[in-house]
Amino acid sequence: MKLFPQRLLEGYRAFATQRLPAEQSRYRELSERGQSPEVMVIGCCDSRVSPEVIFDVGPGELFVLRNIANLVPIYQPDENAHGVSAALEFAVTVLRVKHIVILGHAQCGGIRAFVDKIEPLSPGDFIGRWMSMFIKPGEVVEQRAHESMTDFVTRIEKAAVFRSIENLMTFPFVRTRVESGELQLHGAYFGVAEGSLFVLDRETKQFKSAREISQ
Ligand SMILES: [Zn+2]
Repeated sequence: MKLFPQRLLEGYRAFATQRLPAEQSRYRELSERGQSPEVMVIGCCDSRVSPEVIFDVGPGELFVLRNIANLVPIYQPDENAHGVSAALEFAVTVLRVKHIVILGHAQCGGIRAFVDKIEPLSPGDFIGRWMSMFIKPGEVVEQRAHESMTDFVTRIEKAAVFRSIENLMTFPFVRTRVESGELQLHGAYFGVAEGSLFVLDRETKQFKSAREISQ
C-alpha cells in the first residue's frame, strides 16, 4: 500500500483531538438535519487561498467551489457535463444560499497563464482552454502603456471577479433570485502576502479593504 501523506495523518489526528471535541455536536446536528449554508464561495484552487481559513468558518457554514482562477462560465445548457454549473445549481436551487462570493486573489497562476498567452498546445492542455472562456469573442486583453506587469496581472485578476459575477447573471435561476432580492452576488480579492481581504463595492467598482468596512 502506498503511504498516505504523513502530513495529512498528523493533521487529522490534531483535528480529531483538538477541534472535533468542540465541534462534535455541530457535526452530528449537520449529519442529522443536513447542511444549510447561507453563503457559497467560488474561489481558486490555489493552496494559499482557502476560503474556510480566510473567513474563519466552521463546518456547514460555506458551500465552496474552487477551480482555476475562480471562473464561472456562462450558462450553457448543452449535452456536456458542467461541474461549475452543477455546483451552482445545487447551491442556488436546492440549498437556496443567500450570497455568492467570487473570491479572486493575488499571484493567481491561472491568470498569469492567461496574460502570458498560453495557447492550447494539445488536446491535453486544459488550462489554456479553461482560461479562454474568460474573454468574450473579439475581446482583446492587453497590457496598457506604462502599466507594469504586476499591475496588469492584478487588473486582470480583479477583472476575473467582475467577469464571473457577470457570467453568474446568465444563469436564469441566479438572475431571477437576484432580481427578487433572495440572492446577492459579491466580489472579493485576497492579497496573499499581507493576508489582506478587499471587498468589491459594485456601485463604484472599487475593491475596499475589509478592515475599513463598517456595517
Ligand atoms: Zn488562482
